[in-house]
This record gives sequence, C-alpha cells and structure tokens, in this order.
Amino acid sequence: MKTLLLNRPAVIHDPPHVLEDIIHGHPVTPKHFRLEVDHDGIAWITFDSPKSSANVWNEETLREFNHVLENIEHDTRAKALVLRSAKERIFIAGADIKAIRSLPHARVNDLIWLGQAVFDRLARLKIPKVAAIHGACMGGGFEVTLCCDWRIASDHDSTKIGLPETQLGILPAWGGSTRLSRLVGLRKALDLITTGKLLNAGAAKKAGLVSHVVPMERMEVLARRLVRGKRPASRFHFENFLAPVIGRMARRKVLQKTRGLYPSVTKAVEVVCHAVRGEIENGLLLERNAVDELLRSPDAARLIDLFFKREEAGKRPVSDGTVLPILDATVIGAGVMGSGIAHTLASRGVRVLMTDVSNDSLARGLERIHGLVSDATRRRLVTQVQGRDTLDRISATHVKVPLCRHHLIIEAATENMELKKKIFADLAMRVPVDTILATNTSALSIAELARSVPHPERVIGLHFFNPVHRMPLVEIITLPETSADVLATAVSFVQKIGKTPVVVKDSPGFLVNRILVPYLMEAVRLHQNGVPVKDIDDAMLEFGMPMGPMRLLDEIGLDVAAHVARTLATAFPDRFPNSDALDKMVSAGHLGRKSGEGFYKYENGKEITPARHADLPKHESIQTKLALLISQEAMRCLKEGIARSADDIDLAMVLGTGYPPFRGGPVTFARDTGIIDY
Ligand code: NAD
Repeated sequence: MKTLLLNRPAVIHDPPHVLEDIIHGHPVTPKHFRLEVDHDGIAWITFDSPKSSANVWNEETLREFNHVLENIEHDTRAKALVLRSAKERIFIAGADIKAIRSLPHARVNDLIWLGQAVFDRLARLKIPKVAAIHGACMGGGFEVTLCCDWRIASDHDSTKIGLPETQLGILPAWGGSTRLSRLVGLRKALDLITTGKLLNAGAAKKAGLVSHVVPMERMEVLARRLVRGKRPASRFHFENFLAPVIGRMARRKVLQKTRGLYPSVTKAVEVVCHAVRGEIENGLLLERNAVDELLRSPDAARLIDLFFKREEAGKRPVSDGTVLPILDATVIGAGVMGSGIAHTLASRGVRVLMTDVSNDSLARGLERIHGLVSDATRRRLVTQVQGRDTLDRISATHVKVPLCRHHLIIEAATENMELKKKIFADLAMRVPVDTILATNTSALSIAELARSVPHPERVIGLHFFNPVHRMPLVEIITLPETSADVLATAVSFVQKIGKTPVVVKDSPGFLVNRILVPYLMEAVRLHQNGVPVKDIDDAMLEFGMPMGPMRLLDEIGLDVAAHVARTLATAFPDRFPNSDALDKMVSAGHLGRKSGEGFYKYENGKEITPARHADLPKHESIQTKLALLISQEAMRCLKEGIARSADDIDLAMVLGTGYPPFRGGPVTFARDTGIIDY
C-alpha cells in the first residue's frame, strides 16, 4: 500500500528522496518492535526499545514501525491491530528531541515528512486499531494514537497524555495539529495544543482524548472486546465550522497571555484552525511549513536546550555520596511554607509529621493542605484515592514526639536566626547523628546555623519556593563541610518529589534571591524617581516576565523583601545600597497583597489599581536597565562559583522566577545579546 503523502504529490510538495528510500527501501529487522498476530487475528505491536526505559520516535524507530505496518498490510491473518508499549512508565515519550537537536535543518524536515507518512500509513490501514496507552504518551507518542480508532488508557499515575510541543517553541507536526480537532472539537484542541498541558487518564477521558480508562491489567481484555465491536463513527463537531470566529478569539486570548513572545503558540492557533476541515494532507502541509519556520528561530533552540537542562537536573546525581532512602520526614512549622512542603512530600509518597508550637497554626496548616488536595481532585489532577492517600500520610502535632525514625527534618519555622538555632539545637539532641537537618530559610546564613549544632556536615539548606506545589525549583544550599552522602540524599530526595534541584553555595541570598534583589530594588528606585508602577511592570511583562517587579514585591510581601534586601545590603554594601523605601512602606502597614496595599491596592485579594502614578518614560529603557541588572548579577554569581554552571543559573532563574524561558535564562541572554562581556 502506498501512503497518502506519496500518493498525492500534486497536492503537497514532493516528499524528499530520503523518504522514498525509507518507505520503499530495504526491509529492516525491527529491534524496537515486536509483532505477534494471535489466533483471534489481532496484530499486537509492542514498542519496546532495547536498553532504554523510554520509547521515542526517531528515524530508526519510524522506519521500523513503517516496516511493521507493511508486514501487517501483507498478513492476511491480521484482522485488527493493537499498539502498546512494554515499558513500565512510558508508552511513547514523543520525538527523540536529542537526536533532532543534533540534525541539520533539512534532515529535521525529512524526519517530519517521515513521521507524517508513517502515521498516515497507520491511519489508512483498513482494520480496526486500538492504542493501549499505559505511561507517558506525549507529542508524537499521542499523535500516532490519533491514527487509531480507539485510545484506551491505564489508570496508572504514570499515564500522562498531551501535546507539549508549543512549550518547546514548535507545534505538533506529525498530524496532531490536524487530527486532534477532529477528535475533540476545535476549542479543546486549541486549548490542549496552545497550553501544552499533560492530562492524567481521568482528565484525558473527560477531554475526549481516550474512550476508556481501566487498570493496566484489564487493557488487553478491553482491546480484544473493542476490536470485535463496531468502530466508532467519526465525530461531528459543529464548532469546527466556526473556525474563523473561534480562531480569532483564540488568537486574541493567546496574544494577551503571551504578548506575542511565543510565536509557536500563535502559529499553532493558525495551523489548527486552518487544518480543522478539508483534506488531512493539507493540514499536514501546514504543519510542516509551520514547524520549518519555527525551527529557524533561535527561540525554539533555547526552549529545547532548557528542556534538556531541566531533564538532566531532574535526574543526574551531583555527588558520589550514598543516597539514603527517605520514606519519612518531619516538617517543623505549619505556616505557608511548612504546610506547602508537607503537602508536596505527602503527595509524592513520603510520610510526613508536621509540627508547630501553635495549635492554631497547625489547624490552619492542615486546612491549607485539605484545600490543596480538594482543589487538585476537583480539577482531576489527582484521583479521590490519591488525594485521600496524600492526607493519610500526614500527621500533625504541637507536642514533642520521638523523631528517630525520620532521616530528614525540614525546618520551615518563622524567619529568625535565634529561633532557628534553638530549634536546631533541640533537634540535635533528639535525633541520630545521621539525620539530615535541613532549613528552608530564605536568607539566613546556613553556616551560622550549622555552627550551632554538633556534626554540621548534616546541615543543608532546602529552599523551596512559594507556592510549593506549583514552583518546580528547590535550591540545595551546601557548606564546605556538607557531607557527600547528605548532598547526594538531598538531591535525590528533591528529584523524587518531582522538583528540580539546583545546588548552590551558602552565600547571602543564595542564588535566585541574590539575582532578583538588585532588579527589584532598582524597580523600587525607578518608582521613587517618578516612574509609574504600571510602566515598570508593563516593561518587564513585555520582556516576558510572568509578573512585573512591583507586583512581585507585593506578592512576596514588602516586609519579607525588605528583610532579604537588608541581608544583601549588609553583605555587599558597595553594590546593594541600603534603601529605606520598603521599610517606610512596611512601617505604614503596606505589606503588599496580604495587607491590602503595597505598590498596588487590593480588594478581596484582587488587584484594583496601582497605588501611585507619575509621568510616562519609555518602556524600552526600563526594560533594558532591569534586564541588564539581572544578567549582571547572574554573571557575578557564575564567576564567584555560587552555582555550579551557567546552565544551573539559567535553569534556576527560569524555574524560580519565571524568567522568560524563550530567552534561555539570564546568562544565555547576556551571551546572545552581548549586553555584558561574556
Ligand atoms: P509563616 O509565618 O507562615 O510560618 C511560620 C510557622 O512557624 C508558624 O506557623 C509558627 O507558628 C511556626 N513556628 C514558630 N516557632 C516555631 C517553633 N519553635 N517550632 C515550630 N514551629 C514554629 O512563615 P513561612 O512563610 O511559612 O516561612 C517559613 C520559612 O520559610 C521562613 O524561614 C521563610 O524565610 C522561609 N521561606 C518563605 C517563603 C515565602 O514566600 N513565604 C519562601 C521561601 C522560604
């Protein structure tokens, strides 16, 4: 059988020669796939890349898959097909981005052609087809399933489905931008593709991405039953006829959200809306052209680089120490951070004891955790059972209880050195010497704290960001005496709870706050000199920050920000001048959002107006000045060895502050723009 793409060169440009070779070339012996046709005539295609925990699409796997499909076409016994994976947690993780990154541009285009052609071959197979999805099913992994009649998913927590390509500066170009709207309707397709969000099995069923969710063990029986029954008719979505209107609305919405800084998202709206009706091959042509254009921009390369930096930081060990398994942990302090940390740990399978001196604080902390869990269940981010398990793993007390079972204690009590020293001294007497004593302090010296206890080698900083359940970064702050085992365990623990660790040296402000403070304080200074709050914020929103500096100060709390700024001004008096602007506002009771007024005024927690106004200066100069300050401090941190690499600094700033990912991070920005000698 010929594929559609090769069939219709008149409609779309001629496929590259390499494609002819691949499609009609020599048969290959599959290494990545097993094909078995059983006595019921079901062809079971099992994707199982050797020596890897993941299945991905690249030239080799696409060629093999094409060959497998060809065999099925010629096998008269094959009456139905089931595509599945043998991996524990991954169905198909998508395209092999690593391989793609190293290919020259023309070869990437060939690969896009190839994927489209092979998936199209699957779509055109006349027999009933089921994709049995267990584990991560992303990008090209999901696009291949769109060529099947049914998609069924396991209810396992590793099952995550979606098309995250726009997050990498590209768009789904193996049929996803064309076929998804035919399955779920234009609006949902636009939402999924422009946000790039991944859905768990329950949410995927609700969105119509899969038809059934069952335990993994029942997927085979279900697949057998489905292929014997009637094939689902293609769905009619009236909204798909309203593409011009929906497209205009979607474009407006994404432009508002991205300020036009993410061309992949606007391009995706355009392609999805144009591809929604008519011939599939026209949609595929639009996908190819769009991806070709997007890949030419440096933004996509930076976003892809960042993706790898994050992947690596989420996996790699950073010391040769021994990793202790942490199944239980204690969190001291049930405030905003303590309860957030307890919730995150428990949701990742760690049993947590949360303590506080105040019973009221404990009650409020538990209430916050209940709120987070019910919100996540309502939004189907977790199942009822997972939510209940999270709550079951948390116990709370305001009295002293034995802690010897717990190998990790995270202190998140009020920010006060004397108080923290007391807590640490007390802990040192109550826990074994190999218990890791971690602090979540924002700005206090870890070295000073460590000096107050015997065996300072077990003291470390674990700096979570607020709100803990959303913020992916944890700064791991080390001292020269921190033991390799403590560091290895801390890094592995942070990875296990799904956060990205960045290891930094103990130094005032650590890494992220240190880089952020000069920027925030300069914003305050500009405002004092008459620049309106809104202009400063708008300038940085246009730069791509998720929130302007004045708004961010209000969110952090001006009291907290003033405290961190003071710490840095004391440590680096020549570069961080002491400013009393924040102190004055704090004395007047203007603490930011929490007090109802800071740089903005708030009513019922919602911003209503900037608090003050003045004349308009140019956004651009504000932007250049503030962006430069961030990059300058980032470069200083690099030179001083505060972080281990430029990559770590870029990653920490993107994950910890929302620094615009398409700019790659402040060090990459400095290098790419040449604003500072690199
Ligand atoms: P918070 O005021 O909300 O909570 C502090 C809690 O500590 C209170 O419930 C208090 O009762 C409790 N506490 C006081 N003394 C205690 C003791 N001896 N034993 C046990 N509990 C005690 O403060 P927070 O915002 O959760 O901050 C906690 C820590 O996290 C601070 O060190 C802060 O600098 C750091 N931090 C805060 C943020 C943030 O955005 N809030 C971000 C990162 C780090």
